[in-house]
Amino acid sequence: MLLPDKAEILHLLADEENQDKLFARADKVRQQFVGDNVLLRGLIEFSNICRNNCCYCGIRKDNKRLKRYRMTPEQIVETAKRAVDMGFQTVVLQSGEDMWFNAQRLSAIISEIKKLNVVVTLSIGERSFAEYKAFREAGADRYLLRIETTDKDLYHRLDPGMSWQQRYECLLMIKELGYEVGSGMMVGLPGQSLESVADDLLFLKDLPVDMAGIGPFIPHPETPLAQEKGGTLSLALRTMAVMRLLLPKINIPATTAMEALDPQGRLLALQAGANVVMPNVNEGEFRRLYELYPGKPCLNETPTHCRSCIGLKIKAALGRNCV
Ligand code: SF4
Repeated sequence: MLLPDKAEILHLLADEENQDKLFARADKVRQQFVGDNVLLRGLIEFSNICRNNCCYCGIRKDNKRLKRYRMTPEQIVETAKRAVDMGFQTVVLQSGEDMWFNAQRLSAIISEIKKLNVVVTLSIGERSFAEYKAFREAGADRYLLRIETTDKDLYHRLDPGMSWQQRYECLLMIKELGYEVGSGMMVGLPGQSLESVADDLLFLKDLPVDMAGIGPFIPHPETPLAQEKGGTLSLALRTMAVMRLLLPKINIPATTAMEALDPQGRLLALQAGANVVMPNVNEGEFRRLYELYPGKPCLNETPTHCRSCIGLKIKAALGRNCV
């Protein structure tokens, strides 16, 4: 299969008129390389406390209007048990960069969850090599760390106090430690060019990643980017579809942010190259307080309802099974 080069990537990203052809092509590649099953991951958002101040993020440190929460280790393990009882074979532990969860505390949680015979994915941001190593030794299998953008100027403008190089090195450490590596990017950021999106895709291809999530930028009212124009679902879908062409075998989630822009967002993504869905398995208030962007779907559902609803929706609309 001939992979698109940068010129073709740019053309595909810009060509809204013919995007249905691109989606059909990505869907075919998805079917051929990863099959029809939709892989479910149970997402546990266990703390909305973060030491950083990313300008696009609703749980950034300076958002003083957000009620903060931190689940106890017992609550996290209990939630993982419920996820396993619901049939999830992978749990994703996600949080802001909450340093209360040091190597010792988080490793103990991971070890407990691994006793449930489940795959554990971490999505907790930038840590030291020693911490990544401790989590890996405790049994963590995969790590998600989105690079967000490879445009370093844009990154440093939008992620004050952070270093692009440091983030990149974190990805290399994760890879070196034998994690399956997930990364990804945001599209539609203020000041982001299509060329930069093409560079991001090529960066993910070269790393290479085992999983890549593409999220549209959605302005959050309590952030410095509140007044900016958001990214569009169609550009996010085209970006995701090109990702599928570049890395046919990886896992690509139909992201919740896509559903925030369109009630059918995840179904559309599953027809344009995606093969993973990550339903939230948190209960009640914790579901609502992890607000990275506004309009997050299913905030008032119970995890059990959410799990069965998404499975039924996918089966009815696409005839595909969730596993
Ligand atoms: S994007 Fe991540 S690191 Fe940045 S403020 Fe939000 S949770 Fe923290």
